[in-house]
Amino acid sequence: MNVRALSLFGLTTLLCPALVYGYAYTANDGKGGILTNQTTGIPIVWRENSAGFRFTFGSAFNTSSEVAMNDWNALGLRFQWQREENSQATPCDRTDRKNAAGWRTTTCEGEEFGDAIAITTRTYEAKGDVFYHVDTDIIVDSARKWSAYLPGPLTPDGFGGVVFHDFRRVLRHELGHAIGLDHPDEADPPQQVEAIMNSTTGDVEFLQNDDKLGAVMLYTFIDTSNDSVTDPGTSPSVNSAAKGGGGADGGWLLVGLGVLLATARRRHSRQIKG
Ligand SMILES: [Zn+2]
Repeated sequence: MNVRALSLFGLTTLLCPALVYGYAYTANDGKGGILTNQTTGIPIVWRENSAGFRFTFGSAFNTSSEVAMNDWNALGLRFQWQREENSQATPCDRTDRKNAAGWRTTTCEGEEFGDAIAITTRTYEAKGDVFYHVDTDIIVDSARKWSAYLPGPLTPDGFGGVVFHDFRRVLRHELGHAIGLDHPDEADPPQQVEAIMNSTTGDVEFLQNDDKLGAVMLYTFIDTSNDSVTDPGTSPSVNSAAKGGGGADGGWLLVGLGVLLATARRRHSRQIKG
C-alpha cells in the first residue's frame, strides 16, 4: 500500500464512522420458545419463498396496501408477497394459513384498540425447536380517520384540525412485522434509528436503511429453499412456551405483536410511546 492509498484509507475511515443499525426481530430462543425485539439470534421467518395476502379495505386502500407490499418486495428478498384477491381469508382467522388485512372497530378479541391504530398478529408453527411463520393478519382501527397521503411529513392536524392517519406508512410498518421485524426502539437497549419499524408513527414514511437491512438479514440468515422438510402441517412440536394461542394442532404459537401506536399528536416526542 503506498502512502497515498494509506492516507485515503485513513481519511475514509475518519469520514465514515461505524454505522449503527438497530433493526429488531422476533427470534427463536432455541428451546421451543420465542424472544421478541431481538438484535441477535435465529430469526423467525417464512419457510416459503412467497405467501399471498388478501386486502379487504376497499379499492383505494387496497391499492395503498399493495404499494406498501411492493416496497418490501422491491428489496428482492427470497420471500415475496403476492396480492391475493380471490381467497376468503379474514384477518381474525389466525390459523387458516391465509393472510388477510382489514378494518376492525375492535381487536379480534373484542377489545378496544386503545392507543394502537393497527395490529399485526403472527402465528408460528414449530419444526423441532425452530418456529416459522404460517399465518399473519393485520387489522386497522376503522374508528380513526385514514388517508393515503401524498409523500411528505405527517400532518396529523391537517384537514381542518381532524387527525388523519397515513394508511400507507402504517401498512408499510405492519407488513414489516408480517415478515418478522419488530420495533428497534423497543430492543434492549433501545435503538435510536430512523426506521419505519419504530413503534410510533412519525415523519418516516418509507422504508429506511435500517428496515431494509433488517429484512435482508432475516431472509439471508435462513434460506429454507433447499430445506428437505416439506410437510409443516403434520406433527408440529408442542411448544411449552405457547401463549395466547392454542388451537387443535398444539404446535401453534399465536402472538399478537406489532402494535403500531398512534402518537401522531406527539410527533416531536418520538421517544415517548402512547
Ligand atoms: Zn409495530
